[in-house]
Amino acid sequence: MDEEELLKKIINKELTICETCDNIFAYVPNKIFCSNCKRLRWNAQMRASHKKNKNKRNTQKRVYYEKNKEKITAQARADYAANPEKKKIYREKNRDKLNARRRVHREKNRDEMNAQKRVDYHKKKDASE
Ligand SMILES: [Zn+2]
Repeated sequence: MDEEELLKKIINKELTICETCDNIFAYVPNKIFCSNCKRLRWNAQMRASHKKNKNKRNTQKRVYYEKNKEKITAQARADYAANPEKKKIYREKNRDKLNARRRVHREKNRDEMNAQKRVDYHKKKDASE
C-alpha cells in the first residue's frame, strides 16, 4: 500500500493513525489511540490515581475493617477451620523468606524492642515485690 492510497483510506475513514505511536488500525469512531497505547495510557492513569489516593484508600479500608471487624474475623476463623494446615505449610515453604524478613525487622527495631523489654521487666519486678 503506497502513501497516497493510505491517505485516501484515512480520509475516507477506513483507517486511523495512532496519535502517539503512528500505528495504523481500522477506523472506529472517536478511537484515536491504538490498543497498545490505550492500555499503556490507562495503566499510567491508574498508577497515578492509586498514588494520589493512597491515604484515602487506606482510610476507607480501615473504616471498612472497623465496621465489619466481626464478619472479617469470623471469615478468617472459618478459613482456618477449613484448612488448619495451610498456615503451617506456608511457613514451611517460605521459611527462609520469613526468617530474613524477621531478621531485618528486628535489626531495624532493636533499640525500641529492648526498651520495651526493659519496661516490661521492671513492671513485672515491681509487681512481684
Ligand atoms: Zn499507538
